[in-house]
Amino acid sequence: MVQKIFKTNAELKDWLSKQNSAIIFIPTMGGLHPGHQYLIKKAKERKTKKNQIILVSIFVNPLQFGKDEDFKKYPRNISKDAKLAFIAGADAIWAPDYVEVFPGGEHSHFKIQVPKTLQNQLCGKKRPGHFDGVATVIIRLIKIIKPEKLILGEKDWQQLIIIRRLFQELSLPIKIESYSTKRDQSGFAYSSRNSYLSDSERLNAQSLPNAIKEAKTEFDKKKVINLIKIASILKKNNLKTEYLKIVDPFSLKETKNLNGLCLLAAAVKCGSTRLIDHTFLMQRKPIIAIDGPAGAGKSTVTKAFAKRLGFIYLDTGAMYRAVTWLILSNSIDPSDQSKIKNRLKDLKLEFKNSNFIEQTIFINDIDVTEKIRSPKVTSMVSEISKQQFVRELLTQKQQVIGNNGGLVAEGRDIGTAVFPDADVKIFLTASPTERAKRRALDLNKRGYEFSSIEDLEQEIKERDKKDSERKIAPLKKAQDAVELVTDGMNIEDVLEELIYIFRSKIPEEVWPTPNP
Ligand code: C5P
Repeated sequence: MVQKIFKTNAELKDWLSKQNSAIIFIPTMGGLHPGHQYLIKKAKERKTKKNQIILVSIFVNPLQFGKDEDFKKYPRNISKDAKLAFIAGADAIWAPDYVEVFPGGEHSHFKIQVPKTLQNQLCGKKRPGHFDGVATVIIRLIKIIKPEKLILGEKDWQQLIIIRRLFQELSLPIKIESYSTKRDQSGFAYSSRNSYLSDSERLNAQSLPNAIKEAKTEFDKKKVINLIKIASILKKNNLKTEYLKIVDPFSLKETKNLNGLCLLAAAVKCGSTRLIDHTFLMQRKPIIAIDGPAGAGKSTVTKAFAKRLGFIYLDTGAMYRAVTWLILSNSIDPSDQSKIKNRLKDLKLEFKNSNFIEQTIFINDIDVTEKIRSPKVTSMVSEISKQQFVRELLTQKQQVIGNNGGLVAEGRDIGTAVFPDADVKIFLTASPTERAKRRALDLNKRGYEFSSIEDLEQEIKERDKKDSERKIAPLKKAQDAVELVTDGMNIEDVLEELIYIFRSKIPEEVWPTPNP
């Protein structure tokens, strides 16, 4: 593809109309550095279709600079920037003038106001109006470009969170992908503003990433963060701290609860240059909870998802099925709680080859992998799984497996009861008709007979009803789960969507998602 630089919207639109391509859009203010190049490289690497174009915009947005800020001196060198962008894999550059982005001036356009709850945190506090300016320009840019996907850096974390929330609120059908902060060999984060630093300032500024890194290392070992120590290191190096905080990465509010994912973020003044940096704190690897009704296709995609992330795959339904099989094969009356309790004493329940492909499950050393899929077990499992003793026993076993995180667990109550603090919660569902069709395919594959798809649908509805109406840990969408309706989607589509949801909750810095 010929590498193009466009100045006007008309030229750009004319060219785009001839490409018949979807646009992956990377908005920048120029002053390109390896951090931007990393975003472009990632965009190229993750291209899912042939006809996608990587478009990088260069526009120094006046709306996001305060009165005394550096709008005038912000680095501007389009030919140098374009060269760096093309080397990294950009297909085209769009470097519009102000009037192209704001025809008639900014006052003839809607201005976005970022909610105070987000605006008043971190950088927003010292830069009133900054994020309104960012949000306003991004809406203008995407209106002109109409991209399929937007790529943003995680370095400007608050900006990323605000833009995600904005797109959600406006239901914009544009995917947002983010990638981690790039650093030079010394660990110093690349930023266009680094060019303002004198040699001696640059030496002092180094203490910012150093102190943060040291704090993170200490946190990983001792699970504590000493903000006072970081602050004193910064002070000793002539850096003036604007903020130094541990916040919830999504609400951006300060937090003392270090159990979940946290963001340790700082902004300092080094001479007249403002620098920001951060790190994420997490006590364990991520936990992903996938809940949903029978036949939603959870197992297939959850397995593929866990494999892609290199996480443990936990099929909790298989555990309830195995227990059901044990009770049935011992001819115990499913309503006889004391006999069940007795039989489940010293229960040995093990997954072998839990490495994804075909997971085998053993109950008291008997391989029941195939047996638990029989229609007989299926028809009885809801009856057994509603019992308090069974639930407590299996929930506890599941929690032990997920103790260190790095796990994708699927079931009915994972996000609500087993891992209520899961980092990513997904409620995977599909219409009963679609689910019955999928169940029929599965039964066919396993060599089981069934009377008709209509009967399967009826059975599925009954099981849904039992699972969602039981007293303890019923099937329901966790309040903070993302619902994914998979009608008409194939496995690859669902997997892509799961990865997208995962990446919107877990920064790349915490857990990079390998390419397929
Ligand atoms: O997902 P699968 O169809 O294998 O689940 C079988 C049954 O196990 C469900 O219908 C439900 O009754 C029970 N189950 C549960 N809680 C879970 C997973 C499964 O009650 N977390």
